[in-house]
Amino acid sequence: MRLTISLFTLLLSPFYLFSWGVTGHRVIGTIAEWHMTDAAKHRVMGVLHGATVAEVGNWMDDIKSDPTYDSLYNWHFVTIPDGFTYEQSEKNPNGDVIKGINFLIDALKTDELKKQIEEAYLKMLIHMVADVHQPLHVGRPEDKGGNTIKVEWFWSKSNLHRVWDSGLIDSQQYSFSELAPIVNRDATNKNVNEWQNSNAVDWAHESMSFRKAIYNIPTDGKINYKYRFDHWDTVKLRLLQAGIRLAGVLNEIYG
Ligand SMILES: [Zn+2]
Repeated sequence: MRLTISLFTLLLSPFYLFSWGVTGHRVIGTIAEWHMTDAAKHRVMGVLHGATVAEVGNWMDDIKSDPTYDSLYNWHFVTIPDGFTYEQSEKNPNGDVIKGINFLIDALKTDELKKQIEEAYLKMLIHMVADVHQPLHVGRPEDKGGNTIKVEWFWSKSNLHRVWDSGLIDSQQYSFSELAPIVNRDATNKNVNEWQNSNAVDWAHESMSFRKAIYNIPTDGKINYKYRFDHWDTVKLRLLQAGIRLAGVLNEIYG
């Protein structure tokens, strides 16, 4: 029985393995720091023992190698079928990224957490606000957020989910510190206010709104320069919105 379960886990685990990829999470963390109040930055750094938001952004993916954290597997994504809202869709009994974000915000606001728990929760929140902005982390059930859609990305085998996690960003060959200011150039006071005035359900519904364009791939599955050209603005927008909203949430909790 035990063997069956572990085989099952092995079969399931390749899905949603990396989220935004290391560069994406670091870009989002860097942008968040630029939009945080001094008070929030100071307190967040205290909880993180001097680490930056950018630095801890990938922690929740790193701990996937540790079975202690297996219960968090479902907290990186949410499944919402086409034509449904989050409210209307069947909820995963093991949780999802939206439920997780709301839980963590409420918990961190209580100010009653043990130091170690607070640090873990904060790192998780930093990661999950980013993940929900990756359009395919709000997935269609039939293809597991694009994971079962095989493509050839710049002549290498991949799948649509992975292209959106890291393929699009990595193919530009920017470091995170080069890409962050490029993305942040589109931040204005107006869109900062507008974007921060929204919640995790809104962010997930926005992610769904890109589906039609994202799934528009040639039948041979070969995507490269044109696909990147068509979607690069969307990638930058989602990185920027994630960073600005992460700042908004952290300002609200620690500002
Ligand atoms: Zn993730």
